[in-house]
Formats: sequence, C-alpha cells, structure tokens
Amino acid sequence: MGEIIKGKPVADKISENLINEVQSLKANNILPKLAIVRVGARSDDLAYERGALKRCEKVGVMAEVHELAPDITQADFIKELEKLNNDSKVNGILIFRPLPAQLNEEEIKYIISPEKDIDCLSPVNQGKVYEGDKSGFPPCTPLAVMEILKHYNVDLKGKDVTVIGASNVVGKPAAILALNQEATITVCHIFTKDTAKMSSQADVVIVAVGKAGLVKENFVKEGAVVIDVGINVVDGKLCGDVDFEKVKEKASMITPVPGGVGSVTTSILAKHVVKACKLQNNIK
Ligand code: NAD
Repeated sequence: MGEIIKGKPVADKISENLINEVQSLKANNILPKLAIVRVGARSDDLAYERGALKRCEKVGVMAEVHELAPDITQADFIKELEKLNNDSKVNGILIFRPLPAQLNEEEIKYIISPEKDIDCLSPVNQGKVYEGDKSGFPPCTPLAVMEILKHYNVDLKGKDVTVIGASNVVGKPAAILALNQEATITVCHIFTKDTAKMSSQADVVIVAVGKAGLVKENFVKEGAVVIDVGINVVDGKLCGDVDFEKVKEKASMITPVPGGVGSVTTSILAKHVVKACKLQNNIK
C-alpha cells in the first residue's frame, strides 16, 4: 500500500515560516493585509473564506471581506475593485470565482492590480507562470500541488507527469509548473481519446476534474505518485476524483480527500499576501 501524503504537515511548515516572516515585518510596522471580494454568499465561497480567514489569523496576516450584492453591476464592481487597487493598506486581493453572469471577468482580469493579484486572475500573472517568472503569483491550488510534491521529496525533473483536467485555474497551470521543473508533461481533458492510457504511463498523476471515481486502478502504474485535486460530494461525503481505496494499493504515494491538496491552498494564499506585501515594500 502506498504512503498517504497529507496536506497538514505541508501547511503547518508553510505557516511556521510565515509566522516568523510576518513577525519581522510587524517589527518594522508593516502589516500584510488580504482583501477578499465575495459577490453574494455561495456556500462553497463561504467555506473557503472561513478556511482563508482562519489561516490568515494563524500566521498574523490581516484579512477583510468585502461582500458585494449578488446583483452588483459591472461598473459598481469595478469601482470597488479600483478602491482596493488604490488602498495602500491592502497587499493582496482575492476575488471569488465564478462571478455571477452579469459580471464580465474578461474585463475584470485586466483591472485587478497584478501586484495584488494573489490568485492569478490577471493575464500578467498568468504570463509569469508560463515564463517561470518567480515574481508572479501562480494560482494557489496548483502551487499547493507543487508544495506537496516538494515537501514529500518528489523531484519532478525528468519525470513523466500526466495532468488530468485542463482548466485555467488548476489543470493548465499545474502542467506548466511541472514543465518549469523539467518534467515531461501530458495534459488530458474531456476530449482526450484514452486518458487511462496516458495516465498509466506517468510517474506522477495530478487529477483535477471534478468527477468522483474517475481515476481507477487502470489509470495508474505501479509505484506512481497520485495527487487528487478533485472535490466532490457523494452521499453527503467529501471525496476526490480518484478511487482512493483501490488506487492506494498501486500508488507509492497518494493524497487523501479531504486532508490533501485542499488543506494546503489557504497557506499558499497567506504566503502570497506576505510575498505581495514584501514586494510592495521593496523587501527582498
Ligand atoms: P473545471 O470544470 O473548470 O475543469 C475540469 C477539467 O476536467 C476540464 O479541463 C475538462 O475538460 C476535464 N474533464 C472533464 N471530464 C473529464 C474526463 N472524463 N476525463 C478527462 N478530463 C475531463 O474544474 P476545475 O475548476 O479545474 O476544478 C477541478 C476539480 O478540482 C473540481 O473538483 C474542483 O472542485 C477541484 N478544486 C479543488 C481545489 C482545492 O483547493 N483542492 C481548488 C480548485 C478546484
């Protein structure tokens, strides 16, 4: 049976480092601050928000929530966003997505200040992921995947990595981050002819689809590392995209759901607020 690699030790380690960094910033009267922009009150946004606020509190990052009316207009949304862009006390801005239909993300992504865009909405930060420019902010979830692999000493250099799922927020950036670490990448999506075949050749499989039980034993080669990003609810229980019980018998390492990638994401968020704060204050 493979080793079950949990997110908590990874999150704890990141938090430990952040507590020290935040302390030394505060000693210089610099207070890192996150602004969360939430339109309406969707239950998954609220759940993530609770986790983010708790993590920020733990490491000493200030956080405020801007709850906007579900029917806010594009013009009013942009006004709120520009206020945060111009507020020198705010270092990082997180906008919960998807936004309601009346809001045009294609315009908004060009308005959020790239220096405060800690979850990679801005094309500037997306470009920095592509270039491997470390001054940017890759999206928190795929970066959490990379942090887990690093923590458990999985070196991606020269490895075959298959990413299942190709969204702009998880799959695509996960693939690029792996490529930037000199892995050989394969990306599968809904139109891939034979995902099981592509996946079963990989040393590391990263799954981000949103379909419970999609990845079965035949998707995974003996000894592969399996990272499950998926979040699904089946019969009231949280589960990932991987048939965990069966796949864990073949994998050398596997993340659980819950308790895997999801538990690291908010630490990356807090880390990005601190990074943004340091960059904005010209601190190396
Ligand atoms: P999405 O719906 O935007 O993208 C899903 C991707 O999966 C698409 O590229 C699609 O082509 C592909 N896909 C669909 N069916 C497939 C199939 N049968 N075989 C291969 N590929 C298939 O989803 P997303 O926003 O990328 O999220 C993916 C999953 O990750 C969801 O379960 C989501 O809840 C979860 N998620 C988790 C975290 C976290 O912190 N753990 C954060 C974000 C998203």
